[in-house]
This record gives sequence, C-alpha cells and structure tokens, in this order.
Amino acid sequence: MSQQLADRIRACRLCADRFAATATGHAPNPVVWFAAGARILIISQAPGLRVHQSNTPFWDRSGARLRDWMGIDEAAFYDRARVAILPSAFCFPGYDAAGIDLPPPPVCARTWHPAALAQIGQVPLRLLVGGHAHRRYLPGRLGVTETVRGWRDHAPGTFALPHPSWRNTGWLKRNPWFETEVLPALRARVAQVLTE
Ligand code: SF4
Repeated sequence: MSQQLADRIRACRLCADRFAATATGHAPNPVVWFAAGARILIISQAPGLRVHQSNTPFWDRSGARLRDWMGIDEAAFYDRARVAILPSAFCFPGYDAAGIDLPPPPVCARTWHPAALAQIGQVPLRLLVGGHAHRRYLPGRLGVTETVRGWRDHAPGTFALPHPSWRNTGWLKRNPWFETEVLPALRARVAQVLTE
C-alpha cells in the first residue's frame, strides 16, 4: 500500500462531527487494510465496535462467518498480500439511540475508494459484502436477496454476498440455496485464485 495514501486515510477526520453526535460519541478511527497486488478484494460495509477497538477488519463473529463462507483460515484472510479489505466506510459509524449500527457515511467511499481501488489494482476475485457494497458496485440491482440470487449473472470474478452479521442468520435459514449453491462455488473460486 502506498504509505502516503494509507497515512492520508488514517488521518481523515471528515466524519468527526457526525460520529461525535452518535450514541457512542466516538472519534474517527479509520481501519485501513489493503495492498497492491491482492488476489481477492472484499468490499464490505463498515467496522463494528470490536473492529474499531482492535484496528483489525472483521475481528468479530461476522469475520468468523465470512472466513467460513470463503473456506479460508485467519492466516490467509489477514495476509494483505493476498486479501484486500475495503469497507464502504473505514470508520465505525456508531450506534443510534436504539443500539443499532448506523450506516456507513457515503462520503467515505466517495472520497477514498477511487484512490484505494487504483492502488489495489486488478483482482481476479471481488466479493461485494452487504447491500451498501451491492448498491455502489452493482447499481440498478433489486435488494440483497435478488442480487445474491443472481450470482451467476454477475461479471466474472464478482460474488455478491449478504452481510455475514449474526443478525442475518434468519436470512440464511430462509434462503438455503445460498449455502448449497453459492458457497461451494465461492469456496472453489477462492481456493483457485489463492493457489494460481
Ligand atoms: S468514515 Fe471515512 S470519511 Fe469518515 S472519517 Fe472515517 S475515513 Fe474519513
């Protein structure tokens, strides 16, 4: 990763006022995790509280589930030479008054994604995780379920996935085709690009 770009992102405070006004009242803490030449690009949502505290993306139950979906262990997942993680917002957006995660501020992807994507370069496999990533990178699609269900129609090398949050356990039960059809194809593709 260009140190200059990483340093500029880590120094970003564009959302300071927005975060100060949340129920968590926290300061920005951009979690930056990508490098040029990665084989897999994960475009995700935003850090949760545990990621905010650990400075490690997907360092939570969502990460455990995502690694299981991909069929890789922590060592492979956290190898920045092979896996780049680009959230829709680099900082934890905070909780609302009901304790629900706030959405990623759109200003983050608008401000930083073009430079980050240029830095990462072409990747053979791109995972779009959750509705925010779908809407930005698969515009015009209908909702998460139909977007994920249409996985065979996406550009080669792109998988659209639901968010691996444990809040989506009900979705996974209602859509068993995801586990029986999508995950075997995803795991095969992940294994292929990591061994090519
Ligand atoms: S979420 Fe993005 S734009 Fe907002 S402060 Fe963090 S790095 Fe900056």
